[in-house]
Amino acid sequence: MDSLRFNSLVIHAGQAPEATSGAVMPPIFQTSTYAQEAPGVHQGHEYARVTNPTRSALEALLAGLENGTDAMAFASGCAAMDALLKILRPGDEVLSVNDLYGGTFRLMTKVFEPYGIRFRFLDLTDLDALKAALTERTRMVWIETPTNPLLNIVDIAAVTTICRAHSPRVITVVDNTFASPYLQRPLDLGAHAVVHSTTKYLGGHSDVVGGAVITSDPELIEHVRFQVKTTGAVPGPMDCYLVLRGIKTLSVRMERACRNAADLAEWLNNHPDVKSVNWPGFPGHRGHEIAKRQMTDFGAMVSFTLKQDDVPSAHRFMSATRVFTLAESLGGVESLISHPVSMTHASIPREQRLQAGLGDSLIRLSVGIEDVDDLRADLQRAFDSLR
Ligand SMILES: *Cc1c(COP(=O)(O)O)cnc(C)c1O
Repeated sequence: MDSLRFNSLVIHAGQAPEATSGAVMPPIFQTSTYAQEAPGVHQGHEYARVTNPTRSALEALLAGLENGTDAMAFASGCAAMDALLKILRPGDEVLSVNDLYGGTFRLMTKVFEPYGIRFRFLDLTDLDALKAALTERTRMVWIETPTNPLLNIVDIAAVTTICRAHSPRVITVVDNTFASPYLQRPLDLGAHAVVHSTTKYLGGHSDVVGGAVITSDPELIEHVRFQVKTTGAVPGPMDCYLVLRGIKTLSVRMERACRNAADLAEWLNNHPDVKSVNWPGFPGHRGHEIAKRQMTDFGAMVSFTLKQDDVPSAHRFMSATRVFTLAESLGGVESLISHPVSMTHASIPREQRLQAGLGDSLIRLSVGIEDVDDLRADLQRAFDSLR
């Protein structure tokens, strides 16, 4: 199966018909424990916090997609990140992007910082800034790309090369939620570990919350497996099944969503009521050349500011759409629209976010797989509501 191409791997990686019945899809093993023939003699499963066959099937698939040796599934993306971050010890330093996902920022600064771990947030598109920030205490570099909601692109290969040259102690992690393995595979670009919120593109249907860590690094595998067994933030078998089922159509969903997003980005870019559009597919985008190199397409996330660049106009715009649903989250089959300034990024002071390029009217689209003509008409209806 390893020789299969990505579009086949999403269906077949780590998946074999179930042994006792020949079921083509992995059954939902709704059990907490497993019978043993004699003490310590069993068929590979002892207790469901540690392993569950439905979860194992999902993990094998995720490992295949990210080209890692091992994957560990979690009850949420945050639980996956928490397990990985627990490798840190007091005195360690972590470097990360300055427009990090809000939940990750909160986890780092509110949960881990009080234990004496230092987090610094910088512009990782600036490789000189990265080199200057690395110290002998740096234990981890945490990358997000594309970033949320400005869609900046970090050069994964360049960052991991710099970190590996700096010290073998530095663990490079990529949160690959925004891209999905369909668009980019960070382990192939030198990262030690990938984390996912499978809630987003991998699940793909906005019907499940989940997370995962994927890696080929023996130390990280041992650490994360120990966390799974010991702290137990594991997903139930039904949730694993939903993510598995969602992943089967990852390629076809991404293909359509990226095409829709490209269409809408071009249209918005030429729209008289739009001030600016963030989408890495534009040749003028700061990270365009890197995106072309490290991604297979430019993704289905688009953000833009209105010519009437104020909060009330953004609110009016978002109340007028009918196909785009006003909601947080992303990566589902349905298109979502959100206003980061009053939703996900409300806690950032105005001056600070303006400096980062996060304007008052910034609107973020998670473009789904509907008919693009309906999506365009829906956005035009919202523009009309501003008059
Ligand atoms: C949603 C998200 C998370 C958190 O995942 P949950 O499944 O909501 O816990 C982490 N990183 C990114 C980039 C996300 O979009």
